[in-house]
Amino acid sequence: TGLLVLSILIFILVISLLYYSIKNLITQKKIADIKTDFVNNITHEFKTPLATLTLATKMLEKDQVKAKPDVIDTTIKTINRQSSRLQKLLDQVLDNSLGAEQLILNKTSLNANAYVTNVLNDFMLSTKDHTVELTKDLDTNITISVDTFYFTTALINILENAIKYATDTPKIHCNLSASATHFTVAITDNGIGISEHHKKQILDKFFRIDQTQIHNVKGLGLGLYYTNEIVKAHDGNISIQSQLGKGSTFNISIPLKS
Ligand code: ADP
Repeated sequence: TGLLVLSILIFILVISLLYYSIKNLITQKKIADIKTDFVNNITHEFKTPLATLTLATKMLEKDQVKAKPDVIDTTIKTINRQSSRLQKLLDQVLDNSLGAEQLILNKTSLNANAYVTNVLNDFMLSTKDHTVELTKDLDTNITISVDTFYFTTALINILENAIKYATDTPKIHCNLSASATHFTVAITDNGIGISEHHKKQILDKFFRIDQTQIHNVKGLGLGLYYTNEIVKAHDGNISIQSQLGKGSTFNISIPLKS
């Protein structure tokens, strides 16, 4: 019996050792996956400003543009905005400061209509290879106080999702409105929609709806999480209205004075 007990003990020891080494391997793999996710996400954020820059410089080469000083002027402004955006993204990577807890806002007061118009124009330049129908109703004359770098990231994330989760030609509508206390940007798409059940989780870190039926939609489930962190840092909030199969509206509201 002594030998039997010893063999059982050795067996248990070997099994536990195996269990712990496998568990350790899985943890290491998870950490590696999270790191890759972050790198992929940051790389993804570089794509929109780069695409906008490429198109803006190509536009400057065109003869019809060369004859129009006002178009040259707006295109150069676009190039300036996008290159400083790239610079800041690079700084973020170098500082490794993408974590939401390190969001330090540098707010400026600006006209909401003019600011959102610029964001939408730059965004449309970056989507030249897609057909996107954009309509806007920005007719409010209000001054808002936002960190343009972060707030633009929030708007771009929602605009990019409107294209990613479209089934047909993406149709995007952007509406600006203001109450006595708040300013709201509403971005509506004609995409796949989000169920009531998923709406509760959609802003969570790494949350993605199982998209197996949908063609080639890559993502990490970080965009809306990060967007929500940015909006919260502005003391605002995001609300979502959606109908499966019809589309969604993302409303970003922030206080007028903050
Ligand atoms: P990602 O797009 O990288 O997966 P997000 O955080 O931006 O990450 O979005 C989380 C999930 O929310 C997406 O995987 C998708 O299932 C869903 N989603 C986001 N935006 C939309 C939208 N406009 N229409 C339908 N579903 C959306």
